[in-house]
Amino acid sequence: MICTLCHQEIHEYHPELHQLVIDETHTAHVCSDCITKFFKWQQKLYAKLFPTTAMKKMFGQDIPQDKKEYHKKRIS
Ligand SMILES: [Zn+2]
Repeated sequence: MICTLCHQEIHEYHPELHQLVIDETHTAHVCSDCITKFFKWQQKLYAKLFPTTAMKKMFGQDIPQDKKEYHKKRIS
């Protein structure tokens, strides 16, 4: 299978790992390298556009915003 993005052969192709289904008629095959690049690109972009609060929500990190709250949680 050839990667839709970089046109290189996808080694050890696996549909669950490499097949991106957009909708019923659009499917892309993406190699691991391109997935990693895409992911890093999006991470950087989101970190830049939505620093702190939005990122924490997005990645499910339960970090209270002020130290008082954080301290309370640690004690209890
Ligand atoms: Zn690729």
